[in-house]
Amino acid sequence: MGWFKSRKSGHNLNNTDGSPSVGSCDCCGVNLDRTQGYYVATTDIVMSEPFWRNHIEPLKIMADMVGTPRGNAAGLDEQAAFHTLLTSVAGNEAPWLICEKCSAFFDFERDEARSYAVRGVSPRKSGPVNPNECAVVAGAAWEYIFGHRPSSPQTLAGPTGSTSRCDSCSAPLDRAQGYYLATADVVVSEAYWRLYATKIRAHMMEDDAEWDEHMQLLMFARMLQHVASSRTPWLICEDCSEFFLIKRDEARSHAVSEVSPPKCGPVDPSECVQVAAKAWEHVFGRWPASAEQPEVVDSCDLCAKKIYRRETAGSVGRARFEEFRASGIIDSAPLSPPRPGDKWLLCQICLKRMIARIQRAGLSTPVAEES
Ligand SMILES: [Zn+2]
Ligand SMILES: [Zn+2]
Ligand SMILES: [Zn+2]
Repeated sequence: MGWFKSRKSGHNLNNTDGSPSVGSCDCCGVNLDRTQGYYVATTDIVMSEPFWRNHIEPLKIMADMVGTPRGNAAGLDEQAAFHTLLTSVAGNEAPWLICEKCSAFFDFERDEARSYAVRGVSPRKSGPVNPNECAVVAGAAWEYIFGHRPSSPQTLAGPTGSTSRCDSCSAPLDRAQGYYLATADVVVSEAYWRLYATKIRAHMMEDDAEWDEHMQLLMFARMLQHVASSRTPWLICEDCSEFFLIKRDEARSHAVSEVSPPKCGPVDPSECVQVAAKAWEHVFGRWPASAEQPEVVDSCDLCAKKIYRRETAGSVGRARFEEFRASGIIDSAPLSPPRPGDKWLLCQICLKRMIARIQRAGLSTPVAEES
């Protein structure tokens, strides 16, 4: 998808001097040696209705899931989702590296495309296309999947006290009792992504569907892009607020006065792909091949979560730990005896929960951050 491409900026283009040919399919994200794939120009990509259907279907699945990604109250902003999809695909300058499996979606000269890929050379007709040129075929695919053209967003829930819901867990929520977060605050939370991936998985089970790796990668890519492209503030309930590191008073006052947080707006999906991948691995049992996997360096003493290289973690000394256990700020026993220095290591999920509870209790934060 578009974000795979923007992340990689064009597969060692014009670079035939023996540089690594390893990349990933720009359609499904699977790891792929360039010489085993095809270089396809954007103009050939955008004319494929099966391609669009294949990428719109995950959106429909998400729209059908109660409360995802932005809660029932807001619904799926179909026009915005359609526009994002259309422009991110059409705007690609560089050729698309396409795997054998995905190549079935497209009509192109295979020998030529293979030879471009092998040599790492752009097809002559590469370059962005005008989104208007493919709006018809993409719109037809949308209609096929959704049963109607991309429609306007449903009206947001009314004033305070009406039917607002938490944008994370979809529990009914009075706006004045919630917190307003920016997308940038949300996407860094592994706990949030876990909740979302769990809903996707539940939906898959409900449908009795067995998703192969290809479909899982498509769903992962859509989940990522859909959440990252959210423009409006997220309304978050008290329980879910434990997923995030936030300035609680500020976030509450934004919710009460219905004002967007300062850094509100979409984020670059490549900035949060690893956090989302960690959650995806936890829920689906498989690391999405489209994301780079860092090395596991440790595990959480409270929940056993894998801690990857450069991931935030923090330690809590025995005295504090016991104090927090007694007051309920930490609500489970450690899985192992303390480490050297008489302390336990907590992952970012456990850490954020603990800090949220400390803030609520009006205490100061005693954590030594490590990474
Ligand atoms: Zn592919
Ligand atoms: Zn919630
Ligand atoms: Zn943990």
